[in-house]
Amino acid sequence: MTTYDVSELRQRLASLPRLSLATLPTPLQEAPRLSEALGGPLILIKREDLTGMAMGGNKIREFEYSIAQAVEAKCDVLLHSAAAQSNQSRQTAAVAARLGLRSVIVGRQDSHAQLQGNLLLSHLFGAEINLPPMNEQGDTVKATMQRLRDEGCRPFNTSSDGADYRGIAYVDGFCELYDQLQSMDVTPDAIYVCSGAHTHTGLVVAARALGLPWRVVGVSPSQRDDEKAAKQHVELAERHARILDLDVEVTTKDLESYAEFVGEGYGIVTEGSQQALQVTAQTEGLLLDPCYSGKTMAGLMAHIDRGWWTKDHTIVFLHTGGTPALFAYADELGLETPALDGLD
Ligand SMILES: *Cc1c(COP(=O)(O)O)cnc(C)c1O
Repeated sequence: MTTYDVSELRQRLASLPRLSLATLPTPLQEAPRLSEALGGPLILIKREDLTGMAMGGNKIREFEYSIAQAVEAKCDVLLHSAAAQSNQSRQTAAVAARLGLRSVIVGRQDSHAQLQGNLLLSHLFGAEINLPPMNEQGDTVKATMQRLRDEGCRPFNTSSDGADYRGIAYVDGFCELYDQLQSMDVTPDAIYVCSGAHTHTGLVVAARALGLPWRVVGVSPSQRDDEKAAKQHVELAERHARILDLDVEVTTKDLESYAEFVGEGYGIVTEGSQQALQVTAQTEGLLLDPCYSGKTMAGLMAHIDRGWWTKDHTIVFLHTGGTPALFAYADELGLETPALDGLD
């Protein structure tokens, strides 16, 4: 176990292939009225929703490293498959357009498959879009990959291919955040992040490599076993460390994440996320999204209520984006406005 400084981490990052997609650094902003409304800690928001391209979000930063692998391998089609309102599908389609590559999106006929939000934007970016019934999605992906190969294409699936490099982008993101905190003369007690996997693991690898004791608290957007997730995330973190040739030790304790704020399931709005969205919008003029950052803020709010964090603490909330999905969730945000009754 070795402790590194920021310039050493940056040196190792600089040896990897990288695209320039995001507008960096993203801002780090105080949210004083939100802190006051929650009666809790100083809250600083790291605006990864403002990565610039295509309405932003964390994948734009991640793709600088992961899709660089696709370019190296001379892939010519970017494929992505997830929910109809997937942010990553929108970001895949946008980055493909920017790189002059083809994009293929295999979504699904779920309850948010209307031509709105992310799905609308994926069309605008010129993606080839297929929305099979839910139970045929996996087979459709396989058949699509085969068809592309038969056509002589080299497809790159942005979910799985180059995935170990997505977290690498957040080793870099952590260095950026660290510099910003230094210049504000602030030491956080914890960083809250929506924990799919990669943003979380990248932040943790960087924090441990720099020898910082800050907690990185993940809130999961989907149902899962917290202990199992931590074990898988340790393995992912180890792969990041190997790519960067870092001698760091990451344990399951470093990768705490909580699935208890998901509610009924992935992509289903909860009372907590409705409340988080409204409080944040109405105190700071800041948008969260219903599936990821909203539930993460709901988790932070619950932890403040439980007394984990008080006025003596400082929390960084890393906003991973996702706000385009808001438009597809218009009538599920818990807003009591008669105007919404007229919408179908
Ligand atoms: C994809 C996504 C996440 C999870 O991202 P990881 O790559 O797993 O870190 C979190 N928030 C939003 C808004 C997303 O689109």
